[in-house]
Amino acid sequence: MLSVNAYGAHAADEPLVPLTIDRRDVGPKDVLIDIRYCGICHSDIHHTRGEWGPAPRPAVPGHEIAGVVAAVGAEVTKYAAGDRVGVGCMVNSCRVCEYCERGDEQYCVEGNIQTYGSTDRDGTVTRGGYSQKVVVDEDFVVRIPDGLELDVAAPLLCAGITTYSPLRHWGAGPGSQVAVVGMGGLGHLAVKIAVAMGAHVTVLSQTLSKQEDGKRLGAEAYYATSDRATFKELRNRFDLIINTVSAKVDLTAFINLLKTDGAMINVGAPPEPMPVAVFPLLLQRRTFAGSCIGGIAETQEMLDFCAEHGIAAEIETIGAEQINDAWERVMKSDVRYRFVIDTTTL
Ligand code: NAP
Ligand code: ZN
Ligand code: ZN
Repeated sequence: MLSVNAYGAHAADEPLVPLTIDRRDVGPKDVLIDIRYCGICHSDIHHTRGEWGPAPRPAVPGHEIAGVVAAVGAEVTKYAAGDRVGVGCMVNSCRVCEYCERGDEQYCVEGNIQTYGSTDRDGTVTRGGYSQKVVVDEDFVVRIPDGLELDVAAPLLCAGITTYSPLRHWGAGPGSQVAVVGMGGLGHLAVKIAVAMGAHVTVLSQTLSKQEDGKRLGAEAYYATSDRATFKELRNRFDLIINTVSAKVDLTAFINLLKTDGAMINVGAPPEPMPVAVFPLLLQRRTFAGSCIGGIAETQEMLDFCAEHGIAAEIETIGAEQINDAWERVMKSDVRYRFVIDTTTL
């Protein structure tokens, strides 16, 4: 076993503190990764603060991991020491169900094993990327293309794939009108990716304070949801709406902005239920759906797409001692647009 420095929380209402955790020995199919950067996702906060239910302690979050391979097991074929790699939200799954077979490991019938806070198939509890090293089965490791720096690539491992997957699945492309709700970590990447897919993109943010950034990232229009006129003006406008908001919103107000046959996809994961009125759905044959990260092959496809299109996250790099403050800023929507931890400071 390997003892490594990490940051984590011993209770839902306590700040994150420095601690050490154990990583398993490198098994035949395992890759030992020197983590260089880890993005801060809002899910880290939901999980560690127990908003989705009790978390195993200490909770060490982090599922936007970018690093370099330090060692590989005897049966590893895909990676070698020195390779630039990433790990996202999953580190294992059953491998044999129909969803695993087709590359949708995130929808594994037995539930995917999350990078942190899950009980892995060997019975150990997973701990995430706010740490210096991690051991992961090679099948759940992806390659970071040469054109992408590790720090700006890290957020693609969750925020990138979580927005890429529904944009692809629901056919964002030339001619389609796409709205992105919330201009945070997921939202700013949704804008960049949808623009690169050729869609016309509109941002729906609480205020106009980030309008210039939204336009710089390629959005054609930017509206404030705090202005009720927005919901009148944009009625029946969009083919696809990606909702990235981490809190409860008035879904019906957004659903009314869809065209006939349009779809609104919730990727935001607030713990509270959100009511949906059925009439705006049925009267225009609209869809309301959710989407969870993306499969491993799709994550590699997304990274290659981002490298090809020059897409990377807009980041603010922080040291370990700034993690708790960064979380407070995320809670206040004061993030432009992803905090990334320099793990040498752990
Ligand atoms: P984030 O950086 O905090 O961005 C969320 C954005 O939502 C904020 O920047 C803000 O945008 C908007 N917002 C926040 N509070 C709001 C409120 N009360 N009312 C209206 N808008 C509000 O968070 P993130 O890391 O992008 O994650 C977003 C959500 O996605 C989280 O719930 C996270 O757990 C979830 N998630 C889901 C998946 C999945 O697989 N489905 C994967 C990753 C994350 P504006 O300032 O522009 O209004
Ligand atoms: Zn995430
Ligand atoms: Zn499965």
